[in-house]
Amino acid sequence: PIVLGIESTCDETAAAVVQGGVLLSNVVASSMDEHARYGGVIPEIASRAHAQQFTPVVTRALADANMDLADVDAIAVSAGPGLAGCLAVGVSGAKALAWGANKPLYGVNHVIGHIAVTQLQFGPFPTDTLALIVSGGHTSLLHVRDVARHVDVVGTTLDDAAGECFDKVARLLGFPYPGGPHIDRHAQLGDPHALRVPQGLTQGKAGKAHPYDFSFSGVKTAVARWVEQRQAQGLPIPVDDVCASLADSVATVLSRKAMQACETFGSNTLIVGGGFSANSQLRAKLQEYGAIQGVDVRIPELQLCTDNGAMVAMLGSNLVNAGVAPSSADFAIDSAMPMNQIVMP
Ligand code: ATP
Ligand code: MG
Ligand code: FE
Repeated sequence: PIVLGIESTCDETAAAVVQGGVLLSNVVASSMDEHARYGGVIPEIASRAHAQQFTPVVTRALADANMDLADVDAIAVSAGPGLAGCLAVGVSGAKALAWGANKPLYGVNHVIGHIAVTQLQFGPFPTDTLALIVSGGHTSLLHVRDVARHVDVVGTTLDDAAGECFDKVARLLGFPYPGGPHIDRHAQLGDPHALRVPQGLTQGKAGKAHPYDFSFSGVKTAVARWVEQRQAQGLPIPVDDVCASLADSVATVLSRKAMQACETFGSNTLIVGGGFSANSQLRAKLQEYGAIQGVDVRIPELQLCTDNGAMVAMLGSNLVNAGVAPSSADFAIDSAMPMNQIVMP
């Protein structure tokens, strides 16, 4: 099927056209620069940017694909999770388009889109596979029986997401928002064993209760305390070493638990997605562990890791193929859409 995908959960207004698992166009307009000086996304500013960008971005995505709206078989839009005001703009716009052109509309889960997008590079989504979602707002392990129909949450972070942890430490080190990519770059120059960063919920006492859950707030606190102590002693901060140690700790715990989950669930594939999967330390460690364990690790290319319309269009394509009913005409947005819900009824 030909599917138009629309994304507006946070600070990216994006649209893309996918035809039978092939990406025909992919347009992203970000309001990130407008938020940088506030140190985080300001919902009101992001919503206004979506309202301004919606029509130009969708028009461009169709034009790049050499199509009119009449040519598409279905429209998919992120219905959640995300910022309510931002979701409202994208979903209202998509409803107007679908109603006007008489097309089926799917209000889909943005986070599931982050893993569905891997199909554009690696081919059809395997059944009964494990998936690792790592983004600004989420860090979870999923057991995906069928990406269009059945997803179970196997583990999740009990506090901060991996991207959030990086962004908080980055702020402490004086990097602009979002700080994740800055930490990545500095980590490549530092010593990953320079300071001991705890790995939350690894083994031992918490290991049994939460075999696949994560905790990153302690990681952030440990790094913050170490930096503050150095500052109090008037010592310089070895920024590269701090970044390398943090990145090594986070990448190791994510990779280890993902591989353990693959073993337990008998999956020889690990699908990875979300903005934090752009992280080079995590990408390297997952591939390293995957090679040892014989697990095929599928991580999207960098531009498909962060928010985009292709991920939404691809998931929409899966839903059409599976014969799943489109969302009702009056479906609502859900800013806290649970990860085991793939599409709005
Ligand atoms: P969600 O998908 O959970 O709703 P989101 O859409 O806001 O959250 P994404 O756009 O998927 O998040 O990811 C953004 C996050 O990814 C930010 O926290 C950012 O710092 C982080 N990130 C992006 N690139 C890198 C990188 N190379 N290294 C580390 N973190 C990165
Ligand atoms: Mg973003
Ligand atoms: Fe996202």
